[in-house]
Amino acid sequence: MSNQIKNVAILGSTGSIGTQTLDVIKGNSNLFRAFLLTAHSNADLLISQAIEFVPEYAIICDTGKYLQVKEALAHLPIQVLAGHQSIIDSITHPDIAVVLTAMVGFAGLEPTIAAIKAGKDIALANKETLVVAGEIVTALAKQHDVKILPVDSEHSAIFQCLAGEENNPVEKLIITASGGPFRGRNVDFLANVTREDALKHPNWVMGAKITIDSASLMNKGLEVIEAKWLFDVDADQIEVIVHPQSIIHSMVQFKDGSIKAQMGLPDMKLPIQYALTYPDRIQNDFKRFDFTAYPNLTFEKPDVDTFRNLNLAYMALKQGGNMPCIINAANEIAVAGFLNNKIGFLAMSNLIEECMQQIAFIEKPTLNDYLNTDKETRIFAQNFIQTLPLKAIHY
Ligand code: NDP
Ligand code: MG
Repeated sequence: MSNQIKNVAILGSTGSIGTQTLDVIKGNSNLFRAFLLTAHSNADLLISQAIEFVPEYAIICDTGKYLQVKEALAHLPIQVLAGHQSIIDSITHPDIAVVLTAMVGFAGLEPTIAAIKAGKDIALANKETLVVAGEIVTALAKQHDVKILPVDSEHSAIFQCLAGEENNPVEKLIITASGGPFRGRNVDFLANVTREDALKHPNWVMGAKITIDSASLMNKGLEVIEAKWLFDVDADQIEVIVHPQSIIHSMVQFKDGSIKAQMGLPDMKLPIQYALTYPDRIQNDFKRFDFTAYPNLTFEKPDVDTFRNLNLAYMALKQGGNMPCIINAANEIAVAGFLNNKIGFLAMSNLIEECMQQIAFIEKPTLNDYLNTDKETRIFAQNFIQTLPLKAIHY
């Protein structure tokens, strides 16, 4: 690695990925500096992170919290800004080397595009950006010669399996899924699950949105779309297999039938670190995997009849255009509705399907079309939730 300290901008530093990224930076302060931190509304955590890491910028999206952050950091040489636009403006700072996108949802799209246009490498956790506008984002990355380094554990695994295989054709990607807390359950069971049940992921501790996505298999659907854009493969070259132990993080099958897998204990700090140090690997003290502690690594087909979201995502990917943007927006509203006890677990798929049928399809969307599709879908989905008859809450 070069001796120069790499300045890292962390979008969403107060979240699960953001805080683990700061752990990696803290453990390697000879290599990395947290240069820019952002939060949506968690001012208290942003303030304590800024006091500890003294970044150049601390940005709070919620403008109502600006004064609180500004006053708390007044004694430090930190520029405190507020609002979404401030992120887009400051992400282009010439000293930033890499932008780690760890905010959740569609909100990551515009800052990521601004960073790419400014020539910043992207360590991408915010999968929704590629789901919504994968074609535009990957084309822009090519045009500006920036790397998109996957942080998502499955995509990091595939990326690691592909290292050194640049000229070897891929037959298929095999993405592993834990199956989430409801693996093996049927529709009758799912009709009555609560947000608390769904928030208990067996292997990973993550933010609320991705935890619900994992329980509903939408996370895997989003990851299939993410993989299409990161690795330039067709939908039918991407297979999902349930592997409840989450030890094999994903695999690549090459043209000769050989399969490479990347393995390890489930710990997001590893893919985060690899994205920041790529192409190098560096020492760490993360807990090591012991084969004898896991004598049975098992695999099974996903139950797509019960967990319909995975198939909806494949359908959206095959239809292309703005369809993945529609399912992403519909899913964000569905997950928020479920978390707020407005709709039941199974109704999330119904809502997404309804949006896929009702929102205008655009075959070749521009960025503006994506912004409009996102807005339109959210409004439609919100209204749909409000008009759902009470009994439909658990359909
Ligand atoms: P969290 O909910 O834990 O954190 C989200 C972060 O984004 C917080 O800093 C939050 O700020 C900020 N944020 C939320 N909404 C907005 C918004 N509208 N505008 C700007 N900032 C916002 O999420 P995770 O860390 O779990 O996930 C982040 C991304 O990484 C997601 O796209 C997820 O799919 C992906 N990912 C996560 C993994 C994980 O293990 N957690 C694994 C693989 C991918 P505040 O704290 O103020 O609300
Ligand atoms: Mg993942």
